[in-house]
Amino acid sequence: MDIRTIGIVGAGQMGNGIAHVAALSGYDVVLTDIDDSILQRSLETMARNMDRQIKKGRLSEDQKNTATARVRTSTRLTDHEGADLVVEAAVERFDIKAEIFRQLDSICGPQTILASNTSSISITKLAAVTSRPDRFIGMHFMNPVPVMALVEMIRGLATSDEVYEAVRKVAEKMGKTPVACNDYPGFVSNRVLMPMINEAVFAVFEGVATPEAVDQIMKLGMNHPMGPLTLADFIGLDTCLYIMRVLYEGLGDPKYRPCPLLVKMVESGRLGRKSGQGFYDYSGA
Ligand code: NAD
Repeated sequence: MDIRTIGIVGAGQMGNGIAHVAALSGYDVVLTDIDDSILQRSLETMARNMDRQIKKGRLSEDQKNTATARVRTSTRLTDHEGADLVVEAAVERFDIKAEIFRQLDSICGPQTILASNTSSISITKLAAVTSRPDRFIGMHFMNPVPVMALVEMIRGLATSDEVYEAVRKVAEKMGKTPVACNDYPGFVSNRVLMPMINEAVFAVFEGVATPEAVDQIMKLGMNHPMGPLTLADFIGLDTCLYIMRVLYEGLGDPKYRPCPLLVKMVESGRLGRKSGQGFYDYSGA
């Protein structure tokens, strides 16, 4: 199965990073989102991130120009018609993702592989809205995509070996390390990470410590490169809350209940770095 063209749905922080890495790895990329201004911002971010790699000597100006020329943007999902693989990286909501996959299923040819970068939503359930559950897979990149080595590869109940193998090769060609896991809420990465973040929010909620102290304790004490609340701001508090809800509902265990402070912050629009305010203030960043 020869994969040359990769479609990416959603040009937020993850879609942008996946497009960046795919284009640098030689794939033709079609990047779509709902709004032209988002796509424009995404191309600017990609150029800025590649410039940073050039400064560090990891990329040449020529490689940047060749890669950026491979990226086409559009607000029409129908432009994914000719893709060999489409990776969905839209917001972490089942209803939105399901609608995107229903449409992609009718737009794309029968050979096209559909993949989701979801952090927690069931791959099997998403695959079931399409007529090709055997050609559906979870391809979970880590943030920031150009830097992080892991791709968690999630097999849905019906994912075929052929599709798994084709997508594993794509991840490797992108310079990533694919690691397989089965389809259960939060997979491995967020089943382990997100309860730690949620517990850090509880520590602030219950007045155990300030966000700064929680982060410093985890950084200095556990040798984490970044404290859990800084990380939550980086991931997006809306995404963190959504993942906790998936764990809570999917596993039916009260230990996964989202902290009320996390809920309140999301309701107030404090989503972390992307909104300018989360546990920390990014308005000057
Ligand atoms: P984001 O909010 O930065 O970007 C989401 C993008 O999806 C936005 O640009 C939005 O306009 C777009 N979008 C919304 N509805 C759409 C639609 N119907 N069609 C096309 N585009 C649409 O979010 P993100 O952090 O990039 O997360 C995207 C996905 O990646 C989520 O499923 C998330 O769980 C997953 N993920 C996130 C992280 C992380 O650290 N943020 C890590 C791994 C996986």
